[in-house]
Amino acid sequence: MTTRDETGDRTEGGAAAGELRAWLGRHREEMLADLAAYVSLETPSNDKALLDAGLRWLDGWLEARLGAPAATRLVDGGAPGQGGGRGEAGVYGDARLNDYPGLGEVPVLLLAHYDTVWPAGTLAGWPFTVDGDRATGPGVFDMKAGLVQLVWALRALEAAGLARPPLRLLLNGDEEIGSPLSRPLIEETAESAAAVLVFEASGDGALKTARKGVGIFRLGITGLEAHAGLEPAKGASAVDELARAVRYLHDLSDPDAGTTVNVGVVSGGTASNVVAGAAWAEVDVRVSSQAEADRIATALAELRPHDERAVIEVRGGWNRPVMERGPGTARLFALARKVAAGMGLELEECSVGGASDGNFAAALGLPVLDGLGAVGHGAHARHEYVSVEGMLERAALTAALLHALAARA
Ligand SMILES: [Zn+2]
Repeated sequence: MTTRDETGDRTEGGAAAGELRAWLGRHREEMLADLAAYVSLETPSNDKALLDAGLRWLDGWLEARLGAPAATRLVDGGAPGQGGGRGEAGVYGDARLNDYPGLGEVPVLLLAHYDTVWPAGTLAGWPFTVDGDRATGPGVFDMKAGLVQLVWALRALEAAGLARPPLRLLLNGDEEIGSPLSRPLIEETAESAAAVLVFEASGDGALKTARKGVGIFRLGITGLEAHAGLEPAKGASAVDELARAVRYLHDLSDPDAGTTVNVGVVSGGTASNVVAGAAWAEVDVRVSSQAEADRIATALAELRPHDERAVIEVRGGWNRPVMERGPGTARLFALARKVAAGMGLELEECSVGGASDGNFAAALGLPVLDGLGAVGHGAHARHEYVSVEGMLERAALTAALLHALAARA
């Protein structure tokens, strides 16, 4: 427990937030230069050589801006070229975990992924550009601006001499492909944290306090081939089974419960005069609660062929668990809202269908605030941009929130 003199008072009145915001305003051009440098390094999830170069730059940049971390750890995602060149399976961007001591014992975990969905070469036709309040470039909104905001928030706290809790910063390079390498590190680190802050893009300025869980499944159907005209009864149509399965799956959707089931890709058969011997489908499932995830899992396990000579095989599973808005997250959002109000900012929260690494932490029961990153639009889209003014505002919010968390330590 810290005394109010050290930390609490100034946040309550908004004076600290105002001071932080003013300091950040004076460093606007440096923040933009950092963002320009970071966005100008391509870091597609499937290109290990570029991811390695990106992380080397981040290591140097973080040390220049924040000083050397008290401790650091690297989880190796494999060497570039393993498996025969770029985009190889089983090779992922390394994960970096840095410790920055602060007031108190229990750290706050900060999550930021450095990979983007944009393939190598995208920058050539879409370089980083600033036009008025808008900055654009591949990965600027999802989520390079978020990390730049965070780093400058920490610098602002340092400059103002304001306390913050001990921090663990986790950078991963495999988020956009489901965090297969970094998930264990995220879960292990989250378990010993007081709270988890995720610097993914905001939802129209709103923080994300709930995210759906995502399941990705593939149906493989095997039938029996036969001549469609001469002896159709000898066949068992995989396409007929597929059609029935699509209806069965779509009927599992329950919009009121927040559940969507989408068979997005289908294929099957070989010729119109052959009873189809094989068919398959790709299915995306989104759920808002664990109970719904369980209901869908049971229904998938109970999926049976109409014709018992056919075989239906369901593969795949849950990529990210549901991020439910637990009491800890509700309290954390209430604090963020109060801090924002002290800055004259009305902070909203939202629930979204897309998943992030915040889902892993929330599933462990941790308080999670997601969407603390950029204000802008267009994640995974060509019109992706961030608001420069929004970067200053959110960096100030992050700084003031961390300061308020130190007061609670
Ligand atoms: Zn992201």
